[in-house]
Amino acid sequence: MTDSTLQIFQFPCRSDNYGIIMRERGAKEAICIDAPEVEPIEDVLEDKGLHLHTLLTTHHHQDHVEGNKSLKASQKCTIIGPAEEEDRIPGIDQSVNHGDEIEVLGRRVQVIGTPGHTLGQVAYYFPDDGVVFAADALFAMGCGRIFEGDAEMMHTALQRLARLPDETKVYAGHEYTLSNAKFAVSVDGTNKRLLERAREVELLRDEGAPTLPTTIAEEKATNPFLRVKDPAIRAYLGMEDADDVDVFAELRVRKDRF
Ligand SMILES: [Zn+2]
Repeated sequence: MTDSTLQIFQFPCRSDNYGIIMRERGAKEAICIDAPEVEPIEDVLEDKGLHLHTLLTTHHHQDHVEGNKSLKASQKCTIIGPAEEEDRIPGIDQSVNHGDEIEVLGRRVQVIGTPGHTLGQVAYYFPDDGVVFAADALFAMGCGRIFEGDAEMMHTALQRLARLPDETKVYAGHEYTLSNAKFAVSVDGTNKRLLERAREVELLRDEGAPTLPTTIAEEKATNPFLRVKDPAIRAYLGMEDADDVDVFAELRVRKDRF
């Protein structure tokens, strides 16, 4: 693992969103990923004595941008978001595209296009800190719903994330892990690591603890949407010889109905 000095605060917002605020350990300037709800974000900033320097927006959905305008007013923060959705991201100052590398508070941040859930969604990868903020693209044992794109787009997006180093920590936009685990077990029920993990996350949720962050390695081992080549999943679906994208699309449709 990296010897990163990035300190990350993850806290619940709304019914099942996560807010993320981070800083260099001991520093007063902070970075926020998305703004699902103003109050909990301002509470954390105040509690830790932080000023919000930059807000990184992943996509235009209301439960990710609701706090943009009021945080901009109160914190005078810079708002960065995907170029493809700049018309729909309140208060945006700077737009970014897949493949861009920017510097935020002295840290390298790489922009990974993850369209499918929305057409412009991006993930923010901090290569020197070994962490990616995947919003509504990749969840623990699941993936985002396809609202604006198609299965091929979403599959490509997830493969981009899957190519990050195994030890990369993955933060996501929602606590959907329990229902994702149930679906994953339904299509990959002989996967020992998955069965173990499903029990682990049940215990965590019983205690009200978060199941995130996860890691790329853990997702490759247990997330059916990253396991479309797996013979057992293909056999279960009766799709032994199908294209990866078709297996992915079938899994996504089944999850929507699950
Ligand atoms: Zn969304």
